[in-house]
Amino acid sequence: MSGSITFTMVKPGSVADGHAAHILAKIVEGGFNIKAMKMCRLSKEQAEAFYAIHRDRPFFASLVSSMTSGPVIAAILEAENAVENYRKYIGATNPSEAVDGTIRKIYGKSIEANAVHGSDSDANAEIESDFFFSKFERF
Ligand code: UDP
Ligand code: MG
Repeated sequence: MSGSITFTMVKPGSVADGHAAHILAKIVEGGFNIKAMKMCRLSKEQAEAFYAIHRDRPFFASLVSSMTSGPVIAAILEAENAVENYRKYIGATNPSEAVDGTIRKIYGKSIEANAVHGSDSDANAEIESDFFFSKFERF
């Protein structure tokens, strides 16, 4: 399969609620090919670095707290136009505004606990993939 990549995480709330396997199945059903995957828990420093672009936003401290509250499942996905198509597939940042059938609509609980992360550009997909995975962990 050819295409481009995006980076995703199943966020801690969804892992804790037991939704990870369902979400991963839905990702694969959507035509996204898993190129790398692992479960890990972010440190405060790692979460702050990952979300550094949001460091001045009012929700930053709470976001870092929720993203470090338990393990995530991180993955690199490949598909045609992966970044844009995956963001469509997961739905709007706020689950209440997400289209029916999207991952965030189904599994999101709030604008913060919105089930999954999805990269917002090809450049950030590479940066975020490199943040989590060495070349030996990418297939
Ligand atoms: N977030 C939040 N409150 C907001 C906006 C965002 O808690 O008002 C959280 C939410 O978990 C979101 C993350 O911060 O996924 C990153 O925000 P961004 O605007 O990049 O949204 P995304 O790209 O994840 O849709
Ligand atoms: Mg974003």
